Amino acid sequence: MVQNLYTRKFKAGACIFSQGEDGDLAYIVESGVVKISATEKNASVTLGMLNPGQLFGEMALIDDAPRTATATAVEDTVLTIINREQLIERLNNAEPTLRMLIHVIIERYRTGIKRAHAGNSDTFFDTSYGDVSNASGDMQSMIVGKLKQENELRRALDNNELLVFYQPLLNVQTGLWAGFEALIRWRHPDKGYISPMELITLAEETTLIIDIGLYVLRLACEDMATLQAERDKVLPGAAPLFVGVNVSSKQIQEDDFIERIAEIVAQAGLPPTSLKLEITESMMADYQLVVRWVKRCKARGFKVAIDDFGTGYSSMEHLLELDADTLKIDQIFIKRMSQSEKAKKLVIGMVRLAKALGFTTVAEGLESKEDVDALREMSVEYGQGYHIGKPQMISDVLEQIKQGA
Ligand code: C2E
Ligand code: CA
Ligand code: CA
Repeated sequence: MVQNLYTRKFKAGACIFSQGEDGDLAYIVESGVVKISATEKNASVTLGMLNPGQLFGEMALIDDAPRTATATAVEDTVLTIINREQLIERLNNAEPTLRMLIHVIIERYRTGIKRAHAGNSDTFFDTSYGDVSNASGDMQSMIVGKLKQENELRRALDNNELLVFYQPLLNVQTGLWAGFEALIRWRHPDKGYISPMELITLAEETTLIIDIGLYVLRLACEDMATLQAERDKVLPGAAPLFVGVNVSSKQIQEDDFIERIAEIVAQAGLPPTSLKLEITESMMADYQLVVRWVKRCKARGFKVAIDDFGTGYSSMEHLLELDADTLKIDQIFIKRMSQSEKAKKLVIGMVRLAKALGFTTVAEGLESKEDVDALREMSVEYGQGYHIGKPQMISDVLEQIKQGA
């Protein structure tokens, strides 16, 4: 009985899959008990009993061979479904030696099952069925946890459970809001808010990041059109607002990503210059790819910001070739400014450098009025931080724009 796309329920005694069938799905036991058995020469051998948290059915997915065993629900059982693409995608991302090892281990395991059937070894299944993949218990629960979370994330994306919050950027010189950064939020039905870092790291391990990235872009562009329309009523003639959207390295490796962005921006009726794509220095591993990608963005009219400047794989060389518009000075430098004269001098130097090279500057992590004052004095254009505004829902942003922010 199908409950939804991600879980399946089986009544006590129901067959989940049979030996010899082709397999498209693997499962994680959510509740109940599953018996794994194999039949050879008309005798059925029980290979193991699986309890909640255990993974099974993965072998047929990985090596495309028929099921070596039968799985039956011993009591009423709920299973989380893992599809072939999910496993294969991760396998394909694995280091080649590791991939080869997995195939060797599966092959050896299949031979082991055959021997056990033939009565050559009855000790083969002494360990629990779930452990014979040779992964240690810790490793297995980590993998199972990840696969479950990945499914939850897919479900969240399908059910519009992912939210986009907007953090205002202040024009430090005029005191008006200049634009926003779109920041993803996941309100998990049971676990509450999940950190965007955790969510993005998980999404980046798979191609989920592509869908999530497009989802954020679509919402951000639509919301920005709404905010701009309101702004035009309240402050006609003020500089247009912009929205910064974070981009991951997987996204820039997709050939048609820029075309898809262009479609989204056009559909939202937003001028391309109102979208600012934020790239980080951690992407610079493939620096030439980033250089080309930024050029293509610029040709489309999008703005580009280098995020978290001064951290990660920073190299002054990047500033020479990257055709970006904006440098966002990382919050760690701003945080230390109030405690250290040296840190303040470093920020002054970074701002001067950015200006000399023609970049607009954003200071991140402004948490006090003193921070804002110090940056105004340095002629920084834009500031972002809790003192100016926390990331918030579109409705709250709209309210403040109505009041002239
Ligand atoms: P980021 O791009 O550097 O975003 C700024 C982060 O600093 C946000 O954290 C924001 O809430 C936080 N922040 C802003 N002002 C202050 C402040 O005054 N003090 C402090 N302590 N923190 C401040 P958040 O929302 O947790 O996002 C974390 C990271 O997750 C982001 O860092 C970004 O790398 C990533 N991220 C968020 N949304 C997306 C997305 O849609 N796509 C991608 N690829 N990454 C995203
Ligand atoms: Ca950012
Ligand atoms: Ca940042």
